[in-house]
Amino acid sequence: QQLACQIAAGEVIERPASVVKELLENSLDAGASRIQVDIEAAGTRLIRVRDNGAGIHADDLALALAPHSTSKLRAVADLAAIRSLGFRGEALASIAACARLRLISGQSGVRACEISAEPGAVLPAPAPAAHPAGTTIEVRDLFFNVPARRKFLRAEQTEFLHILELIKAFSLARSDLGLKLSHNGRTVFSISAGADLLERVATVFGRGFAARACRVDVADRGLQLSGIAGQPATARSQADRQYLFLNGRLIRDRRLNHALRLAYSEDLGAGRHAPLLLYLTMDAGDFDVNVHPTKHEVRFRAARDVHDFLYSALRQALADAVP
Ligand code: ADP
Ligand code: MG
Repeated sequence: QQLACQIAAGEVIERPASVVKELLENSLDAGASRIQVDIEAAGTRLIRVRDNGAGIHADDLALALAPHSTSKLRAVADLAAIRSLGFRGEALASIAACARLRLISGQSGVRACEISAEPGAVLPAPAPAAHPAGTTIEVRDLFFNVPARRKFLRAEQTEFLHILELIKAFSLARSDLGLKLSHNGRTVFSISAGADLLERVATVFGRGFAARACRVDVADRGLQLSGIAGQPATARSQADRQYLFLNGRLIRDRRLNHALRLAYSEDLGAGRHAPLLLYLTMDAGDFDVNVHPTKHEVRFRAARDVHDFLYSALRQALADAVP
C-alpha cells in the first residue's frame, strides 16, 4: 500500500508546487472564494492551504485521505463530462504518502474535526477542532521519507518561483477569487475577491499590458473565446506569459499553442510571442482531461475544429484592434 502510494505520488507530486496545485484545485472544487496559502522554505518545510469552501464532514475526513476515493464522481458516466478540477481521488492520498499531513475541516452547523496522517502509520480517529466553515490542510516536510525525490528538488528560489507562478495562474482562473500567498511569514502575492479582471491582469502582467492589448470575445458553434491578447512589443520578459484556460482549467496543448502562434505570425513573422490571457469555453462532454494525472493535457473530440476556431477568433480580435 505504502509503495503503491509512492508510485502514484511520483506521477502527480513532483515538487512543492504540485502539492499547492492539488490543494488549490480542491479548494476551488469546494466552492471557496477565499484561499490563503502559507509556505515555508519554498514549501519543503510547510505548505498550508486554508479555504472558506464547503468543508468536509467529520465522517468523511479519513475517507478523503484514502487512495482512489473521491466525492466528485457520482456515476461512471460522469468521467465523460468532468466539471470539477479533481476527480481521481489520488491527490491527498499521494501527498499523505510522502509528507506529514494535517487536515482540519468544518461545515456550517457541524462540529469541526481534524486528522493527522504520517506516512506508513495507521490513521488515528478524527478529533474535534476549532475551525470555521472551510478546510485547512497542512503539509509538512515534503519527501522527508523519499530521499530520491528530495534529491531532485531545485534551489529554494526555483521551487518558490514555481509556486508563485502557479498562484498567479490561479488568480486569473476565476474572477471572484481572493487569493493570498505568504512565504516565510511575508505576504508575497495578494489579490482580493473583489478585484475585477483588469486588476488581476495588472497584478500578473504588469500595469502596461492592458493598455496595449486588445479584447477577445468571439463565439461560434458552441465554442467561446474571451480574454485579452497582448502586443509582442511589450516588455520582453512578459512575452511568454501565456495563459489558456479551458472551462476554468489552465491547460497546455501543443496544437492549440500552435493555433495561437499562427494567428500572431501572419502580421509579425514566425516565432513571435505575445502575452495572452484567454478563456476558452465549450461543452464539458467535448473534451477529456483524464489523459494524464497532472490534468494539463486535453483530448478534444474535434481537435481540428478547436484549433481552427482559436486561430480565427484570435485573428479576428487582432484585426479588429487595428485602427
Ligand atoms: P479528488 O479531488 O480527485 O476528488 P483528492 O484526493 O484531491 O481527490 O481529494 C479527496 C476528497 O477530499 C475530495 O473528493 C473531497 O471530497 C475532499 N476534499 C479535499 N480537499 C477539500 C477541500 N479543500 N474542501 C472540501 N473537500 C475537500
Ligand atoms: Mg483533488
